[in-house]
Amino acid sequence: MRKVILAGNWKMHELIEDGIALAKCTEQGVKDLPINVIVFPPFTAIHPVFNVLGSDSKVRVGAQNMHYEEKGAFTGEISPLMLKDAGAEYVILGHSERRNIFGENDELINRKVKSALSHGLKIVLCVGEKLEERENGKTEEVIKNELVSDLKGVAKEDLENIIIAYEPIWAIGTGVSAKPEQAEEVHKYIRSLLDEMFGAGSGSNMTVLYGGSVKPKNIESLAKMPDIDGGLVGGASLKCEDFVEIGRILTKVKGL
Ligand code: PEP
Repeated sequence: MRKVILAGNWKMHELIEDGIALAKCTEQGVKDLPINVIVFPPFTAIHPVFNVLGSDSKVRVGAQNMHYEEKGAFTGEISPLMLKDAGAEYVILGHSERRNIFGENDELINRKVKSALSHGLKIVLCVGEKLEERENGKTEEVIKNELVSDLKGVAKEDLENIIIAYEPIWAIGTGVSAKPEQAEEVHKYIRSLLDEMFGAGSGSNMTVLYGGSVKPKNIESLAKMPDIDGGLVGGASLKCEDFVEIGRILTKVKGL
């Protein structure tokens, strides 16, 4: 079922000690907010952060990527078993930085999606268009290609373990967020596409987050959109006060 979620992607930031401090501050700030909060530390900080938060914490822990195999000769990679062992409950897959900087394609992302599901990890699956694609009227085509390929072979029952994050690439880390109406239009499209792929009602039941320069100053107007269930936040998740403030505003706007 749909949830209001605030997710923080720390990317390649925070050494262990700073990560622990950020996680503690975040937990303290959101503890009374009736929303779901997930943080995604770098691999080295997952276990220390999970340890300090504890398994009952309001703040859940996830990883930013994974390999699809359990183990083997894959130098530099990390497996779903290792992530679970470290305390991760979620994994981000298909982030545009993985797609564009590290060349991950939809076939690889689809393997990762199926592996994460089979290992009991919940997924935040990112999709989104480049500026040029938007300007050429290709946004829906890009989103469709990504979702259809990334979710190939996924069963309808598995959708409850998948959160979609719409992240227009031109809005990530740029300070230029999508306009609420632009984001809403794509969120609506994502839901209709999920209905088409998995049957009526599938899309309206899924949690769809917006990501791309979410800050305390723009979350209110974004969260007012009926198809936006929360945010995947990069830069602002590193500033405890900002992240918590986003959570407060989200809670208020969603009437929780
Ligand atoms: C992200 O990394 O997913 C993201 C949305 O980053 P930022 O909030 O910094 O744009």
